[in-house]
Amino acid sequence: MDPDAPAREPVDLRTDRPHSARMYDCYLGGKTNYPADREAVGKVLAANPTVIIAARANRAWMNRVVRYLAEREGVRQFLDIGTGIPTSPNLHEIVQGVAPEARVVYADNDPIVLAHAQALLRSTPEGRTAYLDADVRDPRRILTAPELLRTLDLDRPVALSMAALLHFVPDDQGAQDIVKTLVDALAPGSFLVLSHATGDFAPEEWARTVETYRASGTDAQVRSREEVARFFDGLELLAPGVVMPHQWRLDVDASPLVLQDAEVSGWVGVARKP
Ligand code: SAH
Repeated sequence: MDPDAPAREPVDLRTDRPHSARMYDCYLGGKTNYPADREAVGKVLAANPTVIIAARANRAWMNRVVRYLAEREGVRQFLDIGTGIPTSPNLHEIVQGVAPEARVVYADNDPIVLAHAQALLRSTPEGRTAYLDADVRDPRRILTAPELLRTLDLDRPVALSMAALLHFVPDDQGAQDIVKTLVDALAPGSFLVLSHATGDFAPEEWARTVETYRASGTDAQVRSREEVARFFDGLELLAPGVVMPHQWRLDVDASPLVLQDAEVSGWVGVARKP
């Protein structure tokens, strides 16, 4: 166990107000959410009932892409920012299932994710996992955190995953610069993995969704395919490029569902740092 693992001291869960991680847990059918979260989810679903499908398609893609990276690209180090409430299988369960020695650092800024972090720290004995209570808007703190530096070797390739995270970081909070700072710190041969909600297919529904999140106290911004593609500037996008989660490399693990693009409303991509 990491000596810096989160202590079991009480965390202020702020159950009086909705949190994006707990709302996402609701969409996935989880039980780690409170009345304020469920009330906010009710409002989002009234504005846009497809958000549940979008969340599940994203999670299925996240599972598929990390399996792909461990199995086919030989990645053994992962930095997962915006982890979410533990939902099995979590990233480390998938990649350590492929390579028990894989190392994973998780980071999230939601107190309830911290409260459940023990589930993320059940590493294989050969591998290692760590959890950072951290905000992606302070990327240097993440990159210099002792838990991270003890777990990952930044001189070797790391897959940086930010699944369904950056739509909570609007442009005026520097989303592009944050991604650049993180990627710049990684070794050549590293990967950037990200997924993002879009209004490209159902603009009115997603404008209402963003509005509903903001009204409940969570900043949000959907981005177009072109804007999402810009996060990969300077990197080598892997085939099939920036596509939708239900279209990405179904040869790795086919989706059992036939989904409509407007229901999924997301862009995903994986790129290698040259
Ligand atoms: N990556 C997971 C969960 C996505 S839900 C998946 O794709 O399945 C989005 C997560 O991002 C939530 O857990 C939320 O708490 C976290 N998050 C939102 N803003 C954040 C920020 N500024 N810094 C760190 N994490 C953040």
